[in-house]
Amino acid sequence: MNKDDLRRLRAVEDHSRSFKNLNYVYPVIARRSGGLSLGVNLNTNRACTFDCVYCEVDRSAPLPPAAQKAKVDIPLLKEELGWLLGQVRSGELGKEERFAAAAEVAREVRDISFSGDGEPTLCPDFLEAVRAVGEVLGDFGLLESCKVVLITNASRLHLPEVYGALDELMQFPLGEIWAKLDAGTPEYYRQINRSGVSFEQILSNLDFISRRFAVYIQSMFLKLNGQMLSQEELAAYCDRLRTLLNSGGRLLGVQAYTLARPACAPGLGSLKLSALSQAELEGLAAHIQSATGLNVECYA
Ligand code: SF4
Repeated sequence: MNKDDLRRLRAVEDHSRSFKNLNYVYPVIARRSGGLSLGVNLNTNRACTFDCVYCEVDRSAPLPPAAQKAKVDIPLLKEELGWLLGQVRSGELGKEERFAAAAEVAREVRDISFSGDGEPTLCPDFLEAVRAVGEVLGDFGLLESCKVVLITNASRLHLPEVYGALDELMQFPLGEIWAKLDAGTPEYYRQINRSGVSFEQILSNLDFISRRFAVYIQSMFLKLNGQMLSQEELAAYCDRLRTLLNSGGRLLGVQAYTLARPACAPGLGSLKLSALSQAELEGLAAHIQSATGLNVECYA
């Protein structure tokens, strides 16, 4: 991606997960995708196993109508995804006001990502949704050129119904898993991710899944009350990655993020979150790269 492309991506600030009257699918220009990503939101009820301090999902807002249904309406999901792909193909999406700064970028779908208002693998219809996405991409002749990505907090990857669905997703020509790891110690994990799932379980799941499939690690780095994570925490985080690699895990790299938008999480009290500067994030990335040998991409 050249500098002009990057500038255009940065100009599109609207990351809303609502578009027109769609229930399950939304278009977004995402730097991590390098262009247009179509998100599939299986968590219209905003359910998640984590309660990250940096979460952007506003759980105090009224739930959308789709959240009232016990199951994901798979035919409707397929219809919405097909319609949106048609809008991309015809160039209509690029004419939307929110994509005005990136009309050309909005003409090509880089990925379909299971990434919504919660943890996608919590959805009991995850497998059906994976199959539905595969069918629609097949209908459009896009299976060979469009990634299908699961963005996950890794809390449920050990469950047969989840890794069974991933067996199918990873059979797509361009299936990918992006799994979260924000911490190196249980203490920091509890502070950042505030989950009832133990840190040991997360590490065990990452070990399990990365031996089954090659995965990317996604990590959020931010400042708490003006402080970056400590040197000890960073060293522990790098140790976790090395342990995964040494036990046969296939890690394709690390995607290092910092805050891009205000967090909506409740219960922060006096805790103030702030973003790392580009230079700070790049410094962290260089350290992780040299400590682990993994390629680290920065998304500031
Ligand atoms: S895992 Fe994602 S959706 Fe869940 S609380 Fe964290 S940031 Fe929010």
